[in-house]
Amino acid sequence: MSSLLVTDGILFSAGTVLDADSVGVRDGRIVAVGSRREVRDALGTDADELDARGGLVTPGFVDAHLHLGGGAVDALRCDLSGAATLAEVDERIRSFAAGATAAWIVGGGWDPTLFPPSGPTAAHLDSLVGDRPAFLLDADHHGAWANSAALAAASIDRDTPDPSDGRLERAPDGSPTGALREGAMQLVSPLIPPNDTDDIARALLEVSRSALAAGITGWQEAALGVYAGYPDFSHAYLALLRDGALVGRATGAIWVPRDLTAAGIDAFVAETVDRARVNSAAGFPTRTAKLMLDGIVETRTAHLCHPYPDGSHGLSYFAPDLVQQLVPALNAAGIAVHVHALGDAAVHDALDGFAAVPSADRSRVRNHIAHLELIAPDDVARFAALEVTANCQPYWACANALVRQVTLPLLGRERADDLYPFAALREAGARLAMGSDWPVSTFDPWLGVHVAVTRRPPGEADAEPLGAAQSLPLETALDAYTRGSADLLGIGPGVLEPGAAADLAIADRNPFAGAAAGIHETRNRATVVAGEVVAV
Ligand SMILES: [Zn+2]
Repeated sequence: MSSLLVTDGILFSAGTVLDADSVGVRDGRIVAVGSRREVRDALGTDADELDARGGLVTPGFVDAHLHLGGGAVDALRCDLSGAATLAEVDERIRSFAAGATAAWIVGGGWDPTLFPPSGPTAAHLDSLVGDRPAFLLDADHHGAWANSAALAAASIDRDTPDPSDGRLERAPDGSPTGALREGAMQLVSPLIPPNDTDDIARALLEVSRSALAAGITGWQEAALGVYAGYPDFSHAYLALLRDGALVGRATGAIWVPRDLTAAGIDAFVAETVDRARVNSAAGFPTRTAKLMLDGIVETRTAHLCHPYPDGSHGLSYFAPDLVQQLVPALNAAGIAVHVHALGDAAVHDALDGFAAVPSADRSRVRNHIAHLELIAPDDVARFAALEVTANCQPYWACANALVRQVTLPLLGRERADDLYPFAALREAGARLAMGSDWPVSTFDPWLGVHVAVTRRPPGEADAEPLGAAQSLPLETALDAYTRGSADLLGIGPGVLEPGAAADLAIADRNPFAGAAAGIHETRNRATVVAGEVVAV
């Protein structure tokens, strides 16, 4: 019987700071919350003690949407994340190619703001890697950069039509430039030699440890399926669970393939139920389907009600009538639906899908829409009415370089105040959850919370806030990132109360005591999962 006494903390649970400073844990569960003396009396004298040193103790953060598998595979490939200049991008690609013997150069993480709006070119990549095929995803994973050899391997030329769910950037003569948007990536990515599952599992274990160190005790792998050159990460998760190596509460969402038709719904639902059963039995709950309805604003692939400057409305990957058949069929089988929607038209289609579900079926699952960059005003109240959780990526809700240089010029600066309307959702009674979309953005929850509260990039205290009226109180943001996400993913109540799982994040300070501009300086100091201290 193992027990743990966490003392001298500022305790936060269920949206409030508690009148208590200690938490007692026995056999993985919280058994007492109160003063040090009360909790020690409840625990007995043999407990290990962890001094929180006046730092904030919260339920463990739960990242409701990330891609640990994708980030793990990125680390095995040519990793361009964080490269701040074009010269650095070039140098990383050149040196990776020089040291790699594989037939393909594969990788990603390049910053789209380093290139013109039309994206990078095949000729540029040819100059770095020669005639070996190369395929490099951008940091958002919504676009890729292919060289001439990769385009040739996929038989892409000026006569290749755009797929229905994507776009090839083209020169004036119609020849492809090498920048592939959304579903156009799929013209090349099936040719990429897969990574070994054991290598992926090792890399996944490593990034999961970094997530734990950041205070994340549970998460949702946001897409389990073959897409954009990534394998289905279920195999790596199951391998780690079989070995007992994975710490933290992992869940996942099973990818809905783009080519699904109405005739294929029954078979897809049956297969999803089956996979969810197998995964759950192995300790990996995946009773959720991931339905990606649109792209992103920056490549004009988010599906908008109002047109982009070129008159287009973006892309819609699934017709509304198909969504309105698929979502009820999944919910009826006990499978929740996790929608990717950035544009207001995509959000609207998703809500129409949830509206088509009988309320008894809807109440048995936790449906959600992630990303939510724009929501039509009339749709905000539908989240609460249709029991749809808003799965927010708060780190995006500020005027960072990408938003200033690309997003706002495409949407119109007058829409800046409409972006990521988290407070409006909250006021309309929507349940909020939070996540990072890592490796697209940092998974440090304190950086996300900072932006949710200030609507400014961390460290830019004088920056113009993005839609200041949509900022959330610190209590609300923390509650969404802990209890809200835990509730969404079905991994416990996400509170500090007797009986709850003892998943805790212990910060190095109490951000309630300082200015909001300093929230981003908060660091996670220790993490507890099921009563075990897993990161200090
Ligand atoms: Zn994502």
